[in-house]
Order: sequence, then structure tokens, then C-alpha cells
Amino acid sequence: MPRHPDTSLSAIKNAVDIVALAGDYLPSLRRVGSKYKALCPFHDDHNPSLELNPERQSYKCWSCGAGGDIFDFIKNIERVEFPEALRMLADRAGIVLERQPTTGDGPRGPSKSDLIAVNEWAVGIFADALRGSPEALAYLEGRGLSASSIERFTLGYAPEARGWLLGLARREGHAPELLEQAGLVVRPEEGGPARERFRGRLIFPIRDGNGRTVGFGGRILPRVERTMAEQGRNVAKYLNTPETALFRKRTLLYGADLARVAARRDGWVAVVEGYTDVIAAHQTGLENVVGTLGTALGPDHLVGLKRLADRVALVFDGDEAGMSAADRSLELFLGSDLDLRVLTLPAGEDPCDYLLRRGSASFRERAERAPEPLAYLLDRAEVRFDLASAEGTRRAAEWVLGIMNAATPTHRLGLEVKEGKILDELARRLRVPIESLTRMRRTLQKPAPRVRASAAPSANAPFETPAPAPAPVRLGDLDRSDRELVQVALEEPEAVEWLSTRVSPSSLHEGPLRSLLEACYDLHAEGVPATYDRLMLRLEDPVLRSLATDLVATTALSIPEPAPLSEGVRPGSWRDRLDGLVARLDARARQARLEELKRALEAADPQTEPEARRAIQLEYRRLLTSGQSRKN
Ligand SMILES: [Zn+2]
Repeated sequence: MPRHPDTSLSAIKNAVDIVALAGDYLPSLRRVGSKYKALCPFHDDHNPSLELNPERQSYKCWSCGAGGDIFDFIKNIERVEFPEALRMLADRAGIVLERQPTTGDGPRGPSKSDLIAVNEWAVGIFADALRGSPEALAYLEGRGLSASSIERFTLGYAPEARGWLLGLARREGHAPELLEQAGLVVRPEEGGPARERFRGRLIFPIRDGNGRTVGFGGRILPRVERTMAEQGRNVAKYLNTPETALFRKRTLLYGADLARVAARRDGWVAVVEGYTDVIAAHQTGLENVVGTLGTALGPDHLVGLKRLADRVALVFDGDEAGMSAADRSLELFLGSDLDLRVLTLPAGEDPCDYLLRRGSASFRERAERAPEPLAYLLDRAEVRFDLASAEGTRRAAEWVLGIMNAATPTHRLGLEVKEGKILDELARRLRVPIESLTRMRRTLQKPAPRVRASAAPSANAPFETPAPAPAPVRLGDLDRSDRELVQVALEEPEAVEWLSTRVSPSSLHEGPLRSLLEACYDLHAEGVPATYDRLMLRLEDPVLRSLATDLVATTALSIPEPAPLSEGVRPGSWRDRLDGLVARLDARARQARLEELKRALEAADPQTEPEARRAIQLEYRRLLTSGQSRKN
């Protein structure tokens, strides 16, 4: 994980208020005394158990244990990794992240923000050109897309004229190299001047989940296509930005930025294949629809989909091509922990036609009724094979089992549960004993047993089986002295200096607490006050982050002293508390050492190791007599 300068992190922390941030996601947020409470979005909460602490800028769920600072909140609610959470919060705060100096080799390309800036510029240029092209506008109108949809999706047009975009770029000071890096222009392999990638095409700007333009899709105008064909030139109907640092076709979902609110509200999102399908859906009021960029749904898409909703309806045309596309996706469905549904349309209708003709209510209804992959799979088996014959039954079983074997398990446990269900259901429908199916499955597995599962992930498929989330540390399970000591350190940054010369982290029994204390010492050694805030900026391990939040959140409740005297008066200073704790740790260490020595003494042979025995006895006696006096 790239280290970001603490200054950027704390600038973001200062600029983003956790109450305002959480308020954007949690409509149930209410003020309760000096804190705020809301229904916890991280578990099925019926009683507001999520508490925000505006003073500490932290959150904590008393029920499921979720907790942390603004970075954790965004990571968890947006289901993104830290760098993405950082970027989102920086955007929100209007802070430009300092780029780490690259120690790497090779030429330094333009930064992502340079690429986004030139893309955003091009969006405006293309949109202007669309307004000036009756032909392009007529095409969109012919597809039933309204003026407000054109504006909402910032559609554009790239004229046919060569040098058009490059000329404008030159006039406005955008380097041709940058346009090339962004994929807007191409330099022909055979040499010669660079030229525009998109010409005579409608332009669909493609934005990431945060609404930043990362690339473009272009559809050729029918007239241009015909002209080209007459000249014997074959051109692609659709063209995308090539893969750039920003544009990764297999992960992007068209319309994701506009679908987010509706997808979260409704709990599901539909996936279609075409740009116009997405736009038509939004136009009819169905906003929880996204599109793949002309590719079949792949494992990389699931990550983005998961951020939108837990339930995903995959929309397929009702023709044979659509059906076989659905069949091909089944492997993916079965291996995923997303609740995926297969939504097929009536034969001969694509989503755009369907929506504009029948409206969103009818589509919603279909989405409601869309079968799970398993049910869909078995229905398809019944259509494809003659289940009245033994041969048909065998082939149907082989087909279904083959798909099961090919399933990429992104969620092993889920798959096992599903496998059991599939086998049961398959046995029932095909009227075959489940034992025969299990045997058949094993035979099918033989030739290529775990190849897929164990194969190294290919370079262009960074989607990996997510590691199981590490178990959080429960405060109640921790050694009490260790815990209190670290709690005081987190509460009282001045205490860290005092502690650092008296308590070695290794004297703590609990590994995670040891790591927290070490982190406090590190900060102190760098001259940074070891506050909870600074610590959270530094810690990366989610287990430690959550533990630190738990410690500061519970410290006020678990103060060992009797009831506080009055408002604002601390029950005993941190020195008093630490004196007691350190004495306890020392006594504990002494006792442990004594026991160790006793065991060593028993193990040492008086005949062969008289020297060793004497040394042990000496240390034992010294320790015993040193009694109450503390080391150091
Ligand atoms: Zn919770």
C-alpha cells in the first residue's frame, strides 16, 4: 500500500466531518446528547446501535463491533480499499493528494488527474459538436432518447473531419501527447501524424463510480458506416478508449455513478450490455441500471456491482444469442456470493426497446420474478435436453455438473452450500439418485481438477478470491492490565513519553496491543504526538484500527476507579493509573521469570551442568530478594 504523507491524511481528516459524511449515507442519523446515533449499515440493525463521536471523529457499532474513522467508514460502506477511500475523501474535501515521488524506473506518464482533466475537456468539446450536428441528434432521437437524457449522460459527437480535435486541443493548450495517452488520438504504427480515434461517431463518456470521466465509447453514425462500407472499409460499430491507466474496460460499469443512489435504495441493480439500454432505463425512471462496456459480465465486474447492491439482475435478450450468453455467465453466477438473478426479455426485444415501449414498472416486475441461477439452469436443462430419455437425462446432468465444476469460487462457503442445493434439486428434477450425481461429478472433475482454482491470476485479471476478513479482537478477551495500559496511552498522549522509557512493548502479553503500543512509541520517536487521530492515520491493519477505536470508545466506561467526582474532574491522573499498572506488569514479569527459572533449574543436570545451575540459582535468589523494588 502506498504510504501517503501524514499531512495529506490529516488535511482530509480536518476537512471532512464524520457526522456530515455519515449523514449522507444514513438517513436515520440523530443527535443524542453529545453523540450521534443511527441504524448501523454494517449489520441488520433494528435499534440504532451505531454511535458517532464528533469529538474523536470516530464511529462505533455496539452491536456488530464495526468501528473506526472516516477512512474506515468509507472503506466499509463503499466497499473499497484504502487508496480508493482516500481518493474519494480527498475529492470530497477538495484536497489534491500529494504524489509520492516515484522511485521507479521507466518514463513517467501523465498522472491520472491529468488524464481526467483532458477527458473532461473533451466531454465539453464533444457535447458542443453534438449540439451542432442535426444528423447525430436525429439518430439519438430516433432511438427514443430525450434531450434531458442526452444532458444527463453528457452525450457528444465526434465529427468526421480529420484534425478537428487536435486543432482545438492545440488552440487550448492541451498537448497532443496527453491526448494520445488518454486514448483520444492514435499515432499510426506505420508512422505519420497522429489522428483522432473517434470520427463520425456518437460519443458516450464513460465515468467511474465517482463520476470522473475515464474514457469514451463511440458508436458510428449509420451513414458514415455505409459510406465506409461502400469504400470497402470495415469499421467497428462500437469503439472504446483503449486500456489506459484509468480505463479498464473489464471493471467499468456504464452509469454506475448515476445508479448508485437508486441501487442502494432498492437493494438491487440490473446489468445490461449497451449504452443506450442504460440511458433508456434511466429515462423511464429506472435508475438502478448499469451497463458493461460491450463485454460479457466478468469476475472483475462483480467488485463494482457489489459496491452498488447485494442483488444483481443480469438482463439478457430473449433470443438464442441472449440465452447462450446467459448460459455462459452461469459459471460466474454459481461461484459468486452476490445474489444474482437471470432476467430474460421476450424474444426479439432488447432492453432499450422493452423499456421505452413497456415502461419501467413492467421491467421491475420482471426483475422481481427473475429466477436464481440454479432455477434458471435447471429450466434451461429441461428445454435443451430430452429428459424423457435416459441419454437426455445423462447429458443434462453432465451439462449442469460441468458448469458447477467450472464455477470460479469467489466465496467458497457460499458455493458449497449452493452445490448441495444444486445436487438435491438436480436429483429431484432429473429423477436420478443423488449418489449417482455425486459420482458423476467426481468423474467429471478428474481430468482438470483444480486447475482454475489454483491457477495464478492472470495479469489482466486482478480479481482475486478475497481473503477471509480477519477476526476482530474482542476487548473482553484481552489481558486486563495490557488493555488498560494501552487505553491510557491512547487517551493521554503525554503518557506515551513516560511509558516509552519504562515499559517495553514486548512485556505486553497481547500481540495486537503490543503493536498498538509500538505504533504509539514510533509516533513519539518521530516527534509526533501519539494521539488517537495520528495513530489512525498511521495504522493500516484493519484489526488494529478497529481495536484502537474500541479502546478509546470503551475507555470512559471502564475506568477502574469508583464513580467520577464531578463533571470535568478526572478520577485520578494518568500517572496514578500508570504507576499501578506498571507495577502490575513488573510483578507479572517477575513472577513469569521466576517460574521460568524454576523450570530451567529442574531441567538442568547437576552432574553435567553445574555452572548453568549455579547461574540460575543466583538469578532466582536475586529476583526473589529484589522483591518490591522495580527495575529501571
Ligand atoms: Zn453494526
